[in-house]
Amino acid sequence: MDIRIGNGYDVHALAPGLPMFLGGVQIPSENGFVAHSDGDVAIHALCDAILGALALGDIGHLFPDSDPAYKGIDSKKLLAHVIGLAREKGWKLGNADVTIALQAPKLAPHIGLMRRTLASVIGCDEDCISVKATTTERLGFVGRGEGCEVWASALLAKTE
Ligand code: MG
Repeated sequence: MDIRIGNGYDVHALAPGLPMFLGGVQIPSENGFVAHSDGDVAIHALCDAILGALALGDIGHLFPDSDPAYKGIDSKKLLAHVIGLAREKGWKLGNADVTIALQAPKLAPHIGLMRRTLASVIGCDEDCISVKATTTERLGFVGRGEGCEVWASALLAKTE
């Protein structure tokens, strides 16, 4: 088979006064993500989708939150590392689709920059990266504004 598929899922809790990074972009918000890294839950789910396609485990395994080296780390560096692992094994990203569930703030104004940012880290065309955002109609922990939930799918294609 010269294609592979993977999916990723991540959740981070929200708390006041912390920065909010999503898809490599800082989003103006009163709340941000509680995390060991910069808390970019969208990049974390995308990394797990790529790692899933490679059957290389998950980012918690690759970058343990007990390791001070990853304290506050820019998640774009984690994504660059993960896509490097794919490249080493002869795979490139075909496309990725990321769905972010967040009650507030509205993400629509930031989707374009997220797609461009992710594409530039990965080294692919912007039209290979889809980012979608939804609320949960005030239902569940996302709807109560307690956290953010992200699902990602990634398709990898053989480079040779
Ligand atoms: Mg995470």
